[in-house]
Amino acid sequence: MRSKIVAGNWKMHGSKAMVQELLSDLLDGLEADYCEAIVLPPAIYLGQTQSLLANTQLSYGAQNVAAAEQGAYTGEISAPMLQEFGCKYTLIGHSERRKYYSETNESVADKVILAHKHNIKPIICMGETLEERQAEQTFEIIKNQLTFILMLDNWRDLLQNAILAYEPVWAIGTGCTADPDQAQEVHEFIRNIIADKDIGVAMKLPILYGGSVKPDNAEGLFAKADIDGALVGGASLKAQDFLGIIRCNS
Ligand code: PEP
Repeated sequence: MRSKIVAGNWKMHGSKAMVQELLSDLLDGLEADYCEAIVLPPAIYLGQTQSLLANTQLSYGAQNVAAAEQGAYTGEISAPMLQEFGCKYTLIGHSERRKYYSETNESVADKVILAHKHNIKPIICMGETLEERQAEQTFEIIKNQLTFILMLDNWRDLLQNAILAYEPVWAIGTGCTADPDQAQEVHEFIRNIIADKDIGVAMKLPILYGGSVKPDNAEGLFAKADIDGALVGGASLKAQDFLGIIRCNS
């Protein structure tokens, strides 16, 4: 049985007051039998989040981690720093990081190694752009992104302690979600690549779908065999919507 997970990427939204209110509304609405729910606030609010979520069932993590452990990297936040603030998870390789901050498959792999070293579970994002899909390159792009992880010496150990997120770039923040069959096709493709190398690792690995997930389209996605949950952007900023999605996966 794979873990069911719903993670909320708040991106660059929030304020101290909003963090307080949203987390309190989520805690009020979570039921004991709900799936694993994770919030990913901006890094500056991780201390506040740590205090508010101590001894609760709501988990939290970061949206990014540095590709180095320490040093002269102005503006970066390292895995040991995230660990000190109790982060159990971090996103790595979100398409917005790849697009606006030049993250590459190589830097994603370096970050995955460091997160793992510091006991932080990476949520490794991959996905194709609209142009790539239209050029029928989806599977090639996904395979290439995954290969950078599968080339690492300890890839089995890494993937036993990781989550993957398939996020078609054309579906992120556009309101244009992949339909459940389109998403399942790619999730199955990802799982099969890993299964060819180690079926045990593949069958236990949670693969989330991300891209305009809302309470009214979540159920159809979660009904698919290889979709284990969602990485949610916009809808994770509204407690009732985020709770609605979590409920669909529980
Ligand atoms: C995301 O930021 O990862 C995301 C999927 O955003 P949205 O749900 O808003 O499309």
